This record gives sequence, C-alpha cells and structure tokens, in this order.
Amino acid sequence: MHCEVSGDNIVIMRVTKALISEDNFLYNLRNIREKTGKHRKICIAVKADAYGHGAAALAGRAVETASADYLGVAAVSEGAALREKGLKAPILLFSLASSGETGELFDFDITPFTADISYLNDIAKEAQKRGVRKTVHLKIDTGMRRIGCRPEEAPLIAEFISENKNLKLGGICTHFPVSDTRDREFTENQIALFKNTVDKIREKKIDTGLVHAANSGAILQYPEAWFDMVRPGIILYGSYPDTETEKTFDIKPVMTFESSVLFIKKVKKGDRVSYGLTWEAKEDTFIATIPAGYADGYNRLLSSRGKVEINGSLYPVAGRVCMDQFMVDIGNNSSIKTGDKVILFGGNSAVSGDSVAQLCGTIPYEIYCNINKRVPRIIVQGSL
Ligand SMILES: *Cc1c(COP(=O)(O)O)cnc(C)c1O
Repeated sequence: MHCEVSGDNIVIMRVTKALISEDNFLYNLRNIREKTGKHRKICIAVKADAYGHGAAALAGRAVETASADYLGVAAVSEGAALREKGLKAPILLFSLASSGETGELFDFDITPFTADISYLNDIAKEAQKRGVRKTVHLKIDTGMRRIGCRPEEAPLIAEFISENKNLKLGGICTHFPVSDTRDREFTENQIALFKNTVDKIREKKIDTGLVHAANSGAILQYPEAWFDMVRPGIILYGSYPDTETEKTFDIKPVMTFESSVLFIKKVKKGDRVSYGLTWEAKEDTFIATIPAGYADGYNRLLSSRGKVEINGSLYPVAGRVCMDQFMVDIGNNSSIKTGDKVILFGGNSAVSGDSVAQLCGTIPYEIYCNINKRVPRIIVQGSL
C-alpha cells in the first residue's frame, strides 16, 4: 500500500485521518463510463474539494486515466486552485462568477455557466479587451429554480451568444432537483421541456455544443437524460444520492474516516459521560476516548447514537461528541487496547457514510463535505 498526503505537507500525521481509495474512485468512474457509453463525455463534479475527498489528486488521476473529460467546480477559486496544481482539462463553473471575478475566468481558463444577457455582456467585454473568444455554456432552468434562464428566453440568449464574435456557445444544460427519487413525473417533464428547448435553438441553425443535464440521480435512473455529457458527483465518491434512488450499478465507498483509541478507562455503574452528563453507565464498563470530534466532521448528532468499528466489531458512542474527542462504550470484556484502529465510517466497515447521514437526518454529501481541514487526506493506491 503506497500512500501520499494530498494538500499541504503535514509534518505530524494525526491518527485521525481520511483514507481516500484511488482505486475505488476510478472503479466508480469506470462504471459510470461503461453504463453511459464510451462516446459520451463525463464532467466529474469536484467542487467542495471533491466532496471533501481532495480535489486535485482525484481530478488529476481521473484526467490522466482519460476517464474524465471535464472538471466541475462551484467557485472560481476552486477552478483556479486546480489550474495552480497543473490540471489542464476543461473546467466548468457550475455557479456564476461574481462581478469581481470575471477576469479570473480568463486567467484560469474556466468555462462559465451563463443565464442572462447582462452577465454575458460582462464576459464578452472582457473577452474583447483580451482579444479572445470565450466559450460559455447556457444554463436553462427547467425546474430547479436556482440559476438558469427561462426556457422561452433560451433561443434568444443562444442567438445572442452565437452572434457575438467574442463568445462561443460550448454547451447547453439544465439541472434536476428530484432525479434521485421514485416519483418520475417532475423529472420526465423537465427532460421533455429541455429537449424541446434544445430543438428550438437548433431550429435557428445554432450549434448548441454539448448538451448535458444528468447528475448522479439521472445517471442512475434516466438514460434519456444522458445527452452528450453526464455530470456525476456523489456516485463518484461511492454514495447514492438518496435512500430511494435505484442502485442501477455498483459503486464503492472512496473514503474511510478513521482514528485510533487514545485512552481507555473503567467507569462504574451510574457514572455519566461527557458534556451535559447525558449518558449513564448501566453497569460497570470501559470507555475508550477517540481523538476526533465535530470539528473534524464527526457530527455532534451522533452523540449516543453513532457506532464505530474497532477490530471488526461495532461499539456505541457514549454521550455527547465534543469538539475534538468523543467516547465509546467498549464494554467489559473487550480486548481493545490504546492505539487500536477505529473506523468512524466508510470504506469496508459496517458503518457507511450513507448510514451516518441517515442518523444525522442529512445526506451523505454533507457528511463528506464536513470532514474538516484538520483531517489529512491520505491517498491510498490499492484496496483499502
Ligand atoms: C453538484 C452538481 C452536480 C453533481 O451532483 P450529484 O448529485 O452529486 O451527482 C451536477 N451538476 C451540477 C450543476 C451540480 O451543481
């Protein structure tokens, strides 16, 4: 097993760390490729530091192995950081640049989603100043109500782009709010509306560039929404977007969030543990202290609810999760010693990121994104 730390050099390696399996990430990406077809392009969502997994390392491998064509970010700064790491693949900005960031779209060769004439004018003006032609994608709002033009405005905006000598229409896209659920009507209507809008633009003899729409939910459930390119996010990292989503192909968890036993002490029946003294020992037992807390991304909602895996068995969290530590009831007869590995979630353990998300009343996306900067990401080649 060869390891490399992603991000800044870390002199002192904490025992609390996130192992990132490059093999599992590439396995998921290959499965997406196989499922959606070789001719189709893939834009991997690496926003939010690749959902907390470390964007530069994973994006680099995905591009090197030719399994990703585009990189998707949500902030101009994220795109700039990838360029500074030497990544050359096209970068799509899923959100809008703020007015002060227009220059950076050019400096760092970032392709923006656009949705209105005023924003397009700013970009065109900057392009003219620099004597270049800037590729943009047109985002159409077919139901998400986030960014995007209204479908009926789209042909005119597309025409504006295609007639401007400093702009080039590189693609047309939309986004789905419920492609990961069982109820199909809303998404089917969106797909129909999107197709119809694309047709209207083509009727004007405008080259649309890449047509794209599918997030993880639509990759799993709506082949008719794959078009020219798909934009997977959460399935790359080995979680399904929703508990309802049909698991139409296999994915493997990429992150293992782990720590080790820092301290073990005996507590007596009736002793109470951690802030608020909310957990009480029902009998004499042993309590292990783990050096990870909510500041690391071990959610405080796991207080007295979460379970961790130590030496292949599950043990319950005892009392409130602190900022930097939490306690686990390891019972009376365990052979656990200080220094033993503790899996907080993920990897091959019985505690999946998805199950932690359910316990916390949220989605796996947030669980992974909340793994804090203090936690080193260790890229692992080979199986976990
Ligand atoms: C984040 C994002 C995606 C990926 O979404 P997943 O649900 O993680 O697959 C795709 N497209 C856009 C525009 C996004 O913002």
